[in-house]
Amino acid sequence: MPTSAPTATPVTPPTRTRSAQAFEAAQAVLPGGVNSPVRAFKSVGGSPLFMAKAQGAHIWDVDGNKYIDCIGSFGPAILGHAHPQVVKAVQHVAENGFCYGAPTELETTLAQEIIAAVPSIEMVRLVNSGTEAALSAARLARAVTGRQYLIKFAGCYHGHADAFLVKAGSGATTLGQPDSSGVPVSVANLTLTATFNDSNSVAALLSQYPDQVAAILVEPVVGNMGCVRPKDGFLKDLRDLATASGAMLVFDEVMTGFRVAYGGAQSLYSVTPDVTCLGKIIGGGLPVGAYGASKAIMQHVAPAGPMYQAGTLSGNPMAVTAGLETLRLLQQPGTYESLEANGEYLARGLQKACDEANIPAQVQRVGSMLTVFFTETPVVDYESALTVDRDRFNTMFWGLLNRGVSIPPSPFEAWFTSLAHTPEVMDAIIAAFTQALTDS
Ligand SMILES: *Cc1c(COP(=O)(O)O)cnc(C)c1O
Repeated sequence: MPTSAPTATPVTPPTRTRSAQAFEAAQAVLPGGVNSPVRAFKSVGGSPLFMAKAQGAHIWDVDGNKYIDCIGSFGPAILGHAHPQVVKAVQHVAENGFCYGAPTELETTLAQEIIAAVPSIEMVRLVNSGTEAALSAARLARAVTGRQYLIKFAGCYHGHADAFLVKAGSGATTLGQPDSSGVPVSVANLTLTATFNDSNSVAALLSQYPDQVAAILVEPVVGNMGCVRPKDGFLKDLRDLATASGAMLVFDEVMTGFRVAYGGAQSLYSVTPDVTCLGKIIGGGLPVGAYGASKAIMQHVAPAGPMYQAGTLSGNPMAVTAGLETLRLLQQPGTYESLEANGEYLARGLQKACDEANIPAQVQRVGSMLTVFFTETPVVDYESALTVDRDRFNTMFWGLLNRGVSIPPSPFEAWFTSLAHTPEVMDAIIAAFTQALTDS
């Protein structure tokens, strides 16, 4: 045993009475007490924290406890919370009314910024969430190709539309089984499931369904089974398979867009999809999604073309302004270098802490998204993600929370850091993590 092994440092949980009361009240009127399932802490047990405010890298619960926030609203908060410049711009635009049901010049400006940033996009449609972006991209691929089947990867999340609530069976070529009640089997059957980082599993499906696959949809860096990077050549293989088979390659960059690089994973890995989905960061914390492609493809969307898709609040001035200000701040020189350097510093510190405590762990990271997988094997796909030690994760989750660090309440989520997560903040996370490793 190394002499430097940390000794157990028990911690007393802070008071969370008001959060517990708030959860009681919420459960009477909201299913499970929340408006999005992961927030209910089901996976880690116990009662969720109700939050009161956030600023920079920090968040405060309703009992007044302060935490370093490594959730970042599950992706949007790349500047840190409540950046003064974004707050000011949104306040200013709010004074002129919240939305009009008519076009505004702001929407064109945001579209121009997105087109300038993302290599595959020449024209874009704004929607209100990542879910809408992904379901519209699938409809678009079907409209353009006249084909019905979709290929997705086990463990990838594309929002909650019927077509995507399908998990893998045991084999790569299994027909879809709905992951949620209420999804018609006839819809789920049109979604085929492949294995991430295994292009042979895609090739097999394409030859089993010749000329029938409309789209191959992928998170180019997976965030939704925890952070899993694409192996060398995997994304290019998907590009080649899509081109050869006449299917559209759809990158769901709702999480990775403006996160792993300003131009998203497609610019980082130099692979150009046919269609791109965006969300999260492009709304700066307000509800925005988008899908975009070449002009030829986007001309299929109504009213330019026959594929219908609409939205009462789509492109509203407040959300668009929050997104625009966020993108402008991200354009400042050094942004992604800083996110990378601080992300690397955090990942290295967390891995070192596990190694020194002799706890098997894979700290997997791309830029400012990372996951600590408590497992001996590198996580490359959904199956290897499922090898994590969930008890160890739950202990770590509460150990961190009790020491003032908030991470996502599931072993299969990515942690997000921001420009407000300075090296000092990272040191505080690493210190809390090192202590929490001694909890049992
Ligand atoms: C978050 C996410 C979605 C869904 O976005 P919502 O805004 O929650 O509907 C879709 N795809 C990916 C890759 C995501 O990370």
